[in-house]
Amino acid sequence: MQEVLSSQHFMQLEDKYGAHNYHPLPVVLARGEGVHVWDVEGKQYYDFLSAYSAVNQGHCHPAIVKALTDQASTLNLTSRAFYNDVLGLYEQYITNLLGYDKVLPMNTGVEGVETAIKIVRKWAYEKKGTPMNQAKMIFASGNFHGRTLGAISASQDPDNKSFGPFVPGYIIVPYNDLAALEEALQDPDVAGFMVEPIQGEAGVVVPDDGYLKKAAALCKQNNALFVADEVQTGLARTGKMLCCEHDDLRPDVLILGKALSGGVFPVSAVLCDDEIMMCIKPGEHGSTYGGNPMACRVAIAALKVLVDEKLADNAQHLGEVLRQGLRDLNSPLIKLVRGRGLLNAIVIDSDEHSKLAWNICIKMRDNGLLAKPTHGNKIRFAPPLVMTEEQIYDCVSIIGKSLAAF
Ligand SMILES: *Cc1c(COP(=O)(O)O)cnc(C)c1O
Repeated sequence: MQEVLSSQHFMQLEDKYGAHNYHPLPVVLARGEGVHVWDVEGKQYYDFLSAYSAVNQGHCHPAIVKALTDQASTLNLTSRAFYNDVLGLYEQYITNLLGYDKVLPMNTGVEGVETAIKIVRKWAYEKKGTPMNQAKMIFASGNFHGRTLGAISASQDPDNKSFGPFVPGYIIVPYNDLAALEEALQDPDVAGFMVEPIQGEAGVVVPDDGYLKKAAALCKQNNALFVADEVQTGLARTGKMLCCEHDDLRPDVLILGKALSGGVFPVSAVLCDDEIMMCIKPGEHGSTYGGNPMACRVAIAALKVLVDEKLADNAQHLGEVLRQGLRDLNSPLIKLVRGRGLLNAIVIDSDEHSKLAWNICIKMRDNGLLAKPTHGNKIRFAPPLVMTEEQIYDCVSIIGKSLAAF
């Protein structure tokens, strides 16, 4: 008889043999479908994290899985040393869909961020006339752009402080502060401003209406590029295909990742027009796996699901239902409900160092819903966008029941 291995067993394995660079909620998942995941013991949960918004299309979406498996038995990887018969089709599809001249394909979100920084610097030297090695980049405080040195050099998170020396030429301004941005842009060596349209990791911090649009206008006035990191906010999550659309804004440079593959494969992309993208010449940037045929098939399928299933509209509608439902709970523990579309968070009425938010997440787990605290006292609620209204009401009642236990 085969031994049935418990959740405890798998957690012990990770603890013993894996680096301790994460602090997971104690639940061991073995299967996923749509808005649900199941643990090793067979218990079902609503997934309210969606792998940080990578699984917008729902777990194991059949159309995306089919794209992957069909291509997996045909051609996996050619490298960019040769052409392949899928990359061009994908490039045509995504640039037409999102309205840019060109795309540069990478794998992880942070590689998209690194790519965008390189493109902006190159543009500064070629087009703006910035003296060599002088280009500067502005970032917003509270940002999260990933884990490479290029990304954490822009971070003020204390968890990142022990990895210096950092990349020079970075300026940090407060988020949602146009005056500070305008002042920083007076430096003639500034090449660009990179910003998240909503700061997801910071706890779903939504800027004022018009902030992004005015920030982009300030960049234009000062001949700097406006770069939107939509790795988390993009691809229907906030109720529009891109979060910048809420501000009627088209960024000069757009970074996508996460849901670009619906969670089945690491796929990221940087999009911009020829004037900017053509500053990058052969040999100056690349990735062995970037633009591989499987990634391209998967990304086309993942984007088509967003369009065909009208997931932006669903996110917009269900986001309103969710936030209203959470407010109607009238829980004294909820200090604030905020978000856009299905990217939401509650702020728990406790200080950032209390274990209350963590304990609430444990209780929600026990009641069949998985979410995780971010920055201490905030809990992000970002389910797959294929939810139904009935399921959202079910989730609100699980959250309410869990909060009532404290
Ligand atoms: C997740 C995230 C990244 C990094 O993506 P990885 O795939 O983890 O490298 C970058 N920017 C934002 C806004 C993110 O949410």
